Amino acid sequence: MKKRILTGDRPSGKLHLGHYVGSLANRVKLQDDYDQYILIADVQALTDNYENPEKVANSVRELLLDYVASGIDPEKSTIVIQSQLPAIAELTVFYLNMVSLNRVLRNPTVKAEIEQKGFGDTIPAGFAMYPVSQAADITAFEANVVPVGEDQLPMIEQTREIVRKFNNLYGETLVEPEALVGEFPRLIGLDGKAKMSKSLGNSIYLSDSPEEVNKKVMSMFTDPTRLKPTDPGHVEGNPVFIYHDAFNPNEEEVTDLKDRYVAGKVGDVEVKQKLAIAINNLLEPMRKRRSELEKNPELVNKILREGVEKARLVSGEVLEKVKKAMKIDYKF
Ligand code: ATP
Ligand code: MG
Repeated sequence: MKKRILTGDRPSGKLHLGHYVGSLANRVKLQDDYDQYILIADVQALTDNYENPEKVANSVRELLLDYVASGIDPEKSTIVIQSQLPAIAELTVFYLNMVSLNRVLRNPTVKAEIEQKGFGDTIPAGFAMYPVSQAADITAFEANVVPVGEDQLPMIEQTREIVRKFNNLYGETLVEPEALVGEFPRLIGLDGKAKMSKSLGNSIYLSDSPEEVNKKVMSMFTDPTRLKPTDPGHVEGNPVFIYHDAFNPNEEEVTDLKDRYVAGKVGDVEVKQKLAIAINNLLEPMRKRRSELEKNPELVNKILREGVEKARLVSGEVLEKVKKAMKIDYKF
């Protein structure tokens, strides 16, 4: 039997290059060898977007288009909408007993996000508990591997703790997953800060037009100490070169640009133009696949319908096992 993958994204906007190098590229690569489930995590997205449900609902189809555009094949990977799986909600309720309130609030990613979103004293309980619902997502599919960006590592650790506690208490039932981090675990944003994130408006989206890509790349931050093209520049930590390393497959060109940059023999404009070309080369086939599928809304429906059907069976069986282990599989 093939090993299982569970992975996913929040429908809180369009997917960007950070998603691609952090997780999507791995999913595309692994879909032949694994039984892969990809979750459109709308319930999780609502924990911090509950006042804007249209945004979440409208992003569901966009996310599916992004998946197919990036090379995920719905024949090989099962794409699922989280809210369509009642088993996940039920598992979450059971798992809430497997973790202390303090432990959840100590999660470094949750802490950073609470800060970033400015929740102050009004942290929605659902938001604070989302790592527990993520444990339900992962275990509902008995996933062995979870391809994620670096910010998600504390979630996988939390899941592993819940699994161990559950299995210790109720007997070997749940599968303990492992994280698989992509080649660029935390791609920085166009602004050179933090991480490229849907919520921070510092992203190049997989669905951006060539013109949008050009404009965004030309506005990128570079070396702040370099005032003229003849000044020796810094390559290390420079967003433009980080992106060249991530997206420009022409290593010779990248080495040449770096050498000339350090020597003060190339301007930002040339470095950026070449980067925009490399990114557009990566995105062009994605644009084609996206526009093909956009023309066929019935196929989009079919992919979602079939994904949910298959996932309900799998997650329902896991829920049965969990209830049996907890001795609440009553027979009347
Ligand atoms: P939001 O701001 O709404 O949280 P996001 O941009 O962080 O959105 P998510 O849907 O939360 O995107 O993340 C989906 C997956 O992509 C996760 O595995 C996450 O670790 C990964 N990911 C997100 N941003 C990056 C990034 N900049 N670099 C690498 N991986 C990333
Ligand atoms: Mg996120």
